[in-house]
Amino acid sequence: MRRIILFFIASCLLAFGANAKTKPQRIVVTTDRLTENDMYCAKQLQEMLGKGGLSLYIVSRFDEQPQRGSIYVGDNPYINTDDLPEGGYAMFGDGNWFVLSGQGDKGTLYAVYDFLERYCGYRLYTPDALVVPDMHNFTLPSDTTIERPAFAYREVSYYYPNHSQLYADWHRLHTSVDREGLFGYFVHSFKDLIPANVHFDAHPEWFSMRDGKRLRDGQLCLSNPEVFDTLCALLAQVIDIAADRKIWSVSPNDNYNVCQCPECLRSDSLFGGPTGTLLNFINRVARRFPDKTISTLAYQYTRSAPKGLVVKPDSNVNIMFCSIECGREEAIATSPKETSFRKDMEDWKRLTDNIFMWDYVVQFRNYWNPFPNLHVLQPNLRYFRDNGVRMMYEQATGNDNETSWMELRCYLIAKLMWNPDIDADSVITDFCNGYYGAAGVCIKAVIDTMTAELVKSGNRLDIYGYSVDGIEGYLSSNNMHRYRKLMERAYNATDDTVIRKRLRYFEMALDFATIELATNGELNDLFPYEELPDNVDSLIGMTHQLTRSLNGFGVKQMMEMGISPDLYGQVIGRYLYKTFSYGNAYFRPVELRKQPSKPYTCDGAQSLTDGAGGIMDYRHWWLGFYGDTLDAVISLGYTDTVNSVSMDFYFYPLSWIFLPQSITYYISNDKQHWKQIGKHTPDNPAILATPAIRTFETKLDKPTKAKYLRIVAEPLPEIPAWHRAAGKPAWIFTDEVVVE
Ligand SMILES: [Zn+2]
Repeated sequence: MRRIILFFIASCLLAFGANAKTKPQRIVVTTDRLTENDMYCAKQLQEMLGKGGLSLYIVSRFDEQPQRGSIYVGDNPYINTDDLPEGGYAMFGDGNWFVLSGQGDKGTLYAVYDFLERYCGYRLYTPDALVVPDMHNFTLPSDTTIERPAFAYREVSYYYPNHSQLYADWHRLHTSVDREGLFGYFVHSFKDLIPANVHFDAHPEWFSMRDGKRLRDGQLCLSNPEVFDTLCALLAQVIDIAADRKIWSVSPNDNYNVCQCPECLRSDSLFGGPTGTLLNFINRVARRFPDKTISTLAYQYTRSAPKGLVVKPDSNVNIMFCSIECGREEAIATSPKETSFRKDMEDWKRLTDNIFMWDYVVQFRNYWNPFPNLHVLQPNLRYFRDNGVRMMYEQATGNDNETSWMELRCYLIAKLMWNPDIDADSVITDFCNGYYGAAGVCIKAVIDTMTAELVKSGNRLDIYGYSVDGIEGYLSSNNMHRYRKLMERAYNATDDTVIRKRLRYFEMALDFATIELATNGELNDLFPYEELPDNVDSLIGMTHQLTRSLNGFGVKQMMEMGISPDLYGQVIGRYLYKTFSYGNAYFRPVELRKQPSKPYTCDGAQSLTDGAGGIMDYRHWWLGFYGDTLDAVISLGYTDTVNSVSMDFYFYPLSWIFLPQSITYYISNDKQHWKQIGKHTPDNPAILATPAIRTFETKLDKPTKAKYLRIVAEPLPEIPAWHRAAGKPAWIFTDEVVVE
């Protein structure tokens, strides 16, 4: 094909001469081949060029030879794009005319947008940031470009492509709508195919066995023949309803509870592990549905390719391979920490070329933490491409949420998924200068400094990490000051209100990190802990400002598990209140009748009155009791009066942290005779709900003098039956007693 085009151009160059400066006059769609799609592409080109002041008319006709001043859009007599892959396209012209033509539904449209970007200087940085150059003196280029996507499927599950079709098309992305048209089930579908709430009571033996017990919230027992038959029957029904979907996921749920019944264990030993058992099962399903692709997961306990008696995926089996465990501080291909991932990837490559790569590009635990992962995107995508990946899924926040650095991150990923060999640094520079104007150089400096400091520290950058993870490296006090100085320069560089708003969006990540580090007692020189009472107002001020900004930008969530900006503000406010209200219990002696459980011992008994409240990070400031009662006695002193008692408990069922089943407050003057003053019996929601900090307060009818306060909090007797850790002891987490 390339040969055909070049030959053709050579003949035209002779006809018109190479240095002609021809202004385009018309957009031509070829009469006998005209489709609605090509007409749409022609109109997009017309509209976009019109924004730049170049007004062209569209004409439908047949030209034997390309005519001077014409831009040919869509199928045409001068090139056959049949050999290009879906979405691929060709752009060529000799300076007198130009041709834009592509393969499949989107190829020509991609050619139109690439023409605008590459030859005209248009940019679409975000759906609201279209850069339109002055097109009055534009002349047609003399050039040839043939583009083929590195990956047949390219999705970054982020806000922009799912809220702007223009953005998705311009950046050659698939969207969640495309995915839904392609996939019947997408992932973790065991629970959809054989739901526990429908089948568990009648057939517990269909579900995974752990420690001799069948689990509701686990996996399926793949060696049970009834499971295979039931699953295939249900799959046949749903395929009937949505027959146009090509790919159907039959894949484990999102947990590690693989079946360990004797039959499954026998199968695992035959195939060298649970992946072999799964793949054997999937191949059998795939043979039942030969005209569909059955997709399954190489994820967590099935990430390694089968060993022992090796099973190869059938030709209509797709392997969804996931990089959830990888660090983001260094490229997978070169990181000494990723040898086992590389082995798994390369093992799969030997078995199949039908790999769907599921990669992760944001910090899921803290969307707004600065997350300097841009430097690993390019080498990772190159590595995936070179290892047989055909479909690429970059998981970000899903359709509706946003994160720090979203504008640039999404833009860069889109470009790299199309072609991982572009010059990524010049894309970043172009973005910063184009999107932030004169402030761009400062933003680029923040990004570069942060990345360099992360790499220098050698610390892990984790998709489930926190700001405090960076305290010895890219988020050290010293570095935070450098970023703040650069932000100051950025603001000083521009008066443009649109750009200043973009700077604020960028700056929110620094505010978030500052608040997180301060509430973890880490950012000592900005908010010295001893002086925090004096600085509380400025910390509260920053929190309010961040919450206001996030709400102003329409941000809904602060993390994957939920938490709105308002709730985040409340948690920080409550933390500060607990920490600096100096209630009557502040630094009073505490006697713990039962010791806390490792590693959540915090500072021992004193933690309950040290004025350090917990935040939405279970690793800090929380005192934990694993399956055990919290029984604490606080000596209030002789003159203290009790008006109210309150304590907070952390609720985070994903990590086995539940609310106590009861919390009881007692007072006494002799530590012998206790008078109950309040009892709370909270309900734990029966779902893996959003984490929360819950307050349990008892107000007394009248102020009462007491020398001692006793708190007894009983954990749930065991983790409830619906949970994947059913039957195990539950944690309770508390931080501080506030007496007023
Ligand atoms: Zn089993």
